[in-house]
Amino acid sequence: MTINVNRLVQNAVWDNSLQDVRDDMTQMVEKVHKYLLAFNAILKERQAAGLLPVYDAGFVSPEKQYLTVGVNGFLEGAEALGIEIDADSPQYIAYAEAVLQPIYEANRKARKDGILFNTELVPAESLGVKNAAWDKADKLFVLRDCYNSYFFRVEDPKVNVLDKLKLHGRAFTKYLDGGSACHINLDEHLTNEQYALLLKAAIRTGCNYLTFNIPNTLCKKCGYISKHRLDECPKCHSRSLDYATRVIGYLKLVSRFAEARQEEEHQRYYAKGLEASHGQGD
Ligand SMILES: [Zn+2]
Repeated sequence: MTINVNRLVQNAVWDNSLQDVRDDMTQMVEKVHKYLLAFNAILKERQAAGLLPVYDAGFVSPEKQYLTVGVNGFLEGAEALGIEIDADSPQYIAYAEAVLQPIYEANRKARKDGILFNTELVPAESLGVKNAAWDKADKLFVLRDCYNSYFFRVEDPKVNVLDKLKLHGRAFTKYLDGGSACHINLDEHLTNEQYALLLKAAIRTGCNYLTFNIPNTLCKKCGYISKHRLDECPKCHSRSLDYATRVIGYLKLVSRFAEARQEEEHQRYYAKGLEASHGQGD
């Protein structure tokens, strides 16, 4: 169950006080918990009726399965409040506290035998598009057709790799016990040393969940697949190409994304080799 933070923030804030956001979030989490507990009860009924063989076989254990409070529209809520999206912005950090801490605390309070809650900045592959459309239809402040799944603006070329690590570091992710993957989009593969430096930088910022994405190219004519982003097939010289990029644990062809998500993908900024290695001198 995922909370649309942009909507919550705009409905809550009328005197620019983050306390309103905290209060509304606390009430919202209570509702979400009720929904998740009902969902959990249905799962138990189904298991009792013999309808969940993977549970019975021991592949999934319900007591260890988290009931997840999802978060989407986080960055958009900050934009709606006019807060600068920057790792060093005290306003953005205070906003993160106001939005995420109430969920984290409510989750801990609601924890009991066999019931575990956590919080995740969800990928929202299709929900990010729906939330944006619903909010726009209701005349809320909406800047893009697909809500971000990150703490940084995915289309912003000024956000470099180190900024991304900082924005997915301790200050922003400490309440996200269900995860918030920081996708580092690179135009090309790095050297082992460069990767090692970036991983060290990640440790320093406290970013504990990250992936490196380098687009793969698929030739639609001859089927050749390259681990690099190419403009032309090296085998048959066709320019009819598709690209595969990572969606958390697997690769997906960009052409199979939902339409608005494809547009968002086109806007994603892939750091070039030199920029990506900025950290070396640090
Ligand atoms: Zn080809």
